[in-house]
Amino acid sequence: MNDSIFTKIIKREIPADIIYEDSDVIAFNDISPKAPVHILVVPKKQIPTINDANDEDAFLLGKVILTASKIAKMKGIDERGYRVIVNCNQEGGQSVYHIHFHLIGGKQLGWSPD
Ligand code: 5GP
Repeated sequence: MNDSIFTKIIKREIPADIIYEDSDVIAFNDISPKAPVHILVVPKKQIPTINDANDEDAFLLGKVILTASKIAKMKGIDERGYRVIVNCNQEGGQSVYHIHFHLIGGKQLGWSPD
């Protein structure tokens, strides 16, 4: 599998504004933010889509979502509220084929998938 753009960020081959990192997870600001807070929380393991995740990834993906909630607290948006989104494949609007959770907040969000 070729390295995804996010794997290149993990390897520091391309720059990113990194917010958090540990042995399993990295988080960085989205290059094209849709809200005042728009952070991508990414497992370092390069899994293309959530369709490709399996039982052995359950702990890792749980860790990713818990990391998103910790970052929401760090950013001070946990009480006001925020959204965590995973896009999957074409109709889901996925453009980078390395699982990532969008942490979006800092403003009142609408509820329209379009
Ligand atoms: P998707 O559409 O796959 O759910 O989300 C991919 C996200 O990655 C998009 O919101 C897009 O703006 C972001 N993105 C794409 N390339 C880069 C990059 O090189 N750096 C950063 N920080 N974000 C990127």
